[in-house]
Amino acid sequence: MDFLSYFESKIVSRGRAYYRSGNARITSVDGNVVYGEVEGSDGHVYDVQIDLEKPYNSYCDCPYASGDEDMCKHEVALYYEYLEHKDEYVKSTASSNVKFDSVEEAVESYIKNLNNSQKEEILKTLIIESPEWLREKYLPKYKEDIIDKLK
Ligand SMILES: [Zn+2]
Repeated sequence: MDFLSYFESKIVSRGRAYYRSGNARITSVDGNVVYGEVEGSDGHVYDVQIDLEKPYNSYCDCPYASGDEDMCKHEVALYYEYLEHKDEYVKSTASSNVKFDSVEEAVESYIKNLNNSQKEEILKTLIIESPEWLREKYLPKYKEDIIDKLK
């Protein structure tokens, strides 16, 4: 079901107006949850989070939404802001918006997002810059002539 279909139409049009005035700002995206701040009409900035899969789990700390019962215009504004910037977040999820538990996990994710020529370039640099004993391991049959040239 469409995210906006959970909201009353007057809330959707007010939220859309907020988005158009540049009131919404995304702070981070984690999977289906978008975190951000939306400035209200009185200049107060509200903490907003929207769940794209489960819109009814969306949250805003404005008086109107009080708790997570009501769906407010700030959530709608953040949703429109997300629609505009979606592509940037989908692409950059692995590199900048996800926290990793280990270095290994971060490296795996980094590698997963590289294309083949980027992988080749990195591997090449690593081998060339490796200490000699490691280079010999990767280039056993070229040992004599190539390793000498790399020195
Ligand atoms: Zn709100």
